[in-house]
Amino acid sequence: MLIASGIAEAMQKSSWIRKMFEEGAKLKACKGEENVFDFSIGNPNLPPPEAFYRTLAELAGDRTPGLHGYMPNAGFQDVREAVALRVSVEQDTEVKGDSIIMSVGAGGALNAVFRAIIDPGDEIIVPKPFFVEYVFYAANHQAVIRQAATTPSFDMIIATIEAEFSPKTRAVLINSPNNPTGKVYSEENLRALSRLIEKKSAEYGREIFLIADEPYRAVIFDGVEVPAIFPLFKNAVICSSFSKTLSLAGERIGYIAVNPRVDNLPLLTGAIIMTTRILGFVNAPALAQRAVARLLDEKVEVDFYRENRDLLLEGLAGAGYECRKPEGAFYLFPKSPIPDDVAFCKLLLDENILAVPGTGFMGPGHFRLAYCSSRQTVTGSLPGFRRALEKAKEG
Ligand code: PLP
Repeated sequence: MLIASGIAEAMQKSSWIRKMFEEGAKLKACKGEENVFDFSIGNPNLPPPEAFYRTLAELAGDRTPGLHGYMPNAGFQDVREAVALRVSVEQDTEVKGDSIIMSVGAGGALNAVFRAIIDPGDEIIVPKPFFVEYVFYAANHQAVIRQAATTPSFDMIIATIEAEFSPKTRAVLINSPNNPTGKVYSEENLRALSRLIEKKSAEYGREIFLIADEPYRAVIFDGVEVPAIFPLFKNAVICSSFSKTLSLAGERIGYIAVNPRVDNLPLLTGAIIMTTRILGFVNAPALAQRAVARLLDEKVEVDFYRENRDLLLEGLAGAGYECRKPEGAFYLFPKSPIPDDVAFCKLLLDENILAVPGTGFMGPGHFRLAYCSSRQTVTGSLPGFRRALEKAKEG
């Protein structure tokens, strides 16, 4: 075969998000963009904050030699220090620049971290439903994802996580605010997880990491707070990015923050710097690093997403759908009115609505709506949602 069998298989499985995105492109070409209600992909529709454009213009004029060349693999030192200050506040922990490694988005961050800590066959436990790219990222490093069921309101269940532990467990990977559910884990839930990880680390005599994938940390509503991770978990690594909070997904800029309290900070950060290099990232994009370092107090108009959430929730509830109100990110994860969520997404497609089956996130019986879309997409879709539900009930 021309290509590796594992990749051929991955292409076959692909992802439901991509499938629906491609389906949508066809539908838009045929029906006209304005007649398609696309909730398929988490591509932020809000523009970056105005300050981003000003900053870029300023940076573009800077002729200081070396600014566009190679740099230390961890990133510009001043950028690492600026990010560390910000992380210190978020994490209620004094974090210095040597705990930060700039990355190629959160996706690049996760891959660099996995490569640094995973031996082939190691296992990563993830509460489900979850962002399906984790499966592919884990496979890149011959890790195995073990899925742990959550409650109907998507809280972690410590017993189901405990049941997935084995001597090969290397990490528990959490994502809060969550894609696809919008769930923000409570401090109590996190504390219970922390106790479990400590107990299992002692039992197996091995460091077990908490990896927090946090690209949505700042996309939160109604005054909700995302609890700090570092005070709760000693061997903790945060993977984050500016893809969602500044709408810079295409610029591929993010960072890894390692808890200063980990067992051996220079060893772990040294390993991640090494993997950043050898995975071919070399370093995070230079211009984007310098831009985000000046924009750490900025974020997109999160209120716009909250309004979309509320309109969509109200419209769906009025039509008879069941859906939990999410605290953050920009996704709804309603219950599918019929058990077969793939079949239901086809009914939605007949109404020109693009949704992703929950099956694609290991959360069957639901579907995901990415409401980082225009207001017109939200309001215009509601009659179609109503009709699809009626058809589903008719059978
Ligand atoms: N993690 C989650 C939960 C996501 O939803 C995404 C993107 O949608 C990523 C990671 C990847 O983010 P980035 O664009 O920063 O690589």
